[in-house]
Amino acid sequence: MKTPIYFDHAATTPLDERVFEKMRPFFTNVFGNPNSQHAFGRDAVKAVDEARDTIAKIINAKPNEVYFTAGGTESDNWALRGIASAYKDKGNHIIISPIEHAAMITTAKALEKQGFKIDFMKVDEYGVIDLEHLKSIVTDKTILIGCMLANNEVGTIEPIKEIAKIARSVGALCFTDAVQVCGVLRTDVKELGVDLMSMSSHKIYGPKGVGALYVRNGVKIDSILTGGHQERMKRGGTTNVPGVVGFAEAFRIAEEEREKNFVYVSSLRDRFIERVLKEVPFVKLNGHRTNRLPANADFSFKFIEGESILFSLDLAGIAVSSGSACSSGSLEPSHVLLALGLPEGLAHGSIRFSFGKHNTIEEVDYAVDVIKTAVERLRAMSPLFKAEGEIKYV
Ligand SMILES: *Cc1c(COP(=O)(O)O)cnc(C)c1O
Repeated sequence: MKTPIYFDHAATTPLDERVFEKMRPFFTNVFGNPNSQHAFGRDAVKAVDEARDTIAKIINAKPNEVYFTAGGTESDNWALRGIASAYKDKGNHIIISPIEHAAMITTAKALEKQGFKIDFMKVDEYGVIDLEHLKSIVTDKTILIGCMLANNEVGTIEPIKEIAKIARSVGALCFTDAVQVCGVLRTDVKELGVDLMSMSSHKIYGPKGVGALYVRNGVKIDSILTGGHQERMKRGGTTNVPGVVGFAEAFRIAEEEREKNFVYVSSLRDRFIERVLKEVPFVKLNGHRTNRLPANADFSFKFIEGESILFSLDLAGIAVSSGSACSSGSLEPSHVLLALGLPEGLAHGSIRFSFGKHNTIEEVDYAVDVIKTAVERLRAMSPLFKAEGEIKYV
């Protein structure tokens, strides 16, 4: 088997060659600053305008509703902080889900220190938002409900349309982090009914450090990055021209090949899930069995630390994540799995496999074989397994 094998596409993806080619001239000949009043500047403006038009069209928005940012983290920060600041006279109540990306959770905690009241929605054991609970906690002081369109760790897809309806019923805004979903499922902002939406380029075979925030016309949002006149005075800083060009091209390609990739990647994922469930004892598939992202398979391996499986897989040339890439290394159990009600032991033993368009069925089969051997070996050394597992094995 040719290694290394990359099964960590939810953390980032390789740059598509076609995207690289599209970006290339903007590193060299077409280097102008879009703010400059001369031919070099105009060429850059043209490229940025085209990129904005492309993205607006895909998400069914107007070009002036798309703001370029430095990625998903900035978009999440901006949505929360910018809305909190602009609507603080209306209310101080913000609701988010407990399984949001760290960019949201940490920002919400920062807002809490500034006097905003943050409440968390409830999720069921699959990570799906409990809409009845949400209805019971919204008030006329709620200014924003923020929930990801699909979870980056367990892949569960959320009922955003319904959440947006609940937000509208109390005059609150609805924000969704669609970073894992853009180019994977439909992200039509009108159909979803959302007021704000975060996007990022590097999860869809585009360059890192660039993304966008959709802000529906009519929604007030304060700036968090003050500076020059860029992005209609809302986000200072010279535009990352090669970045936005690459992002738009990556999004265009992802959208064009969306159905093909969906079918292919989910076939890899399904084979992987089926084999692991059948061939590895004491595993739990986290997230929803069917209502999940096509690329995602997240497993807890009972009696073993996720980190030790990760190391065994890494030794065999297979790259995966324990928990989400952002919290791994912290040795904290995943906040997502804890919110789903997993006991700490299982939340520690989780591994996320996220497949991509370049992976093959042979790689998937090789990974299952490696996992079987690694899990057996690690369990043989696990005192927990000796105490509990072996008895159940018989
Ligand atoms: C990766 C990710 C982010 C952060 O995006 P960056 O562009 O890496 O800052 C935010 N939300 C979700 C759901 C993600 O998966």
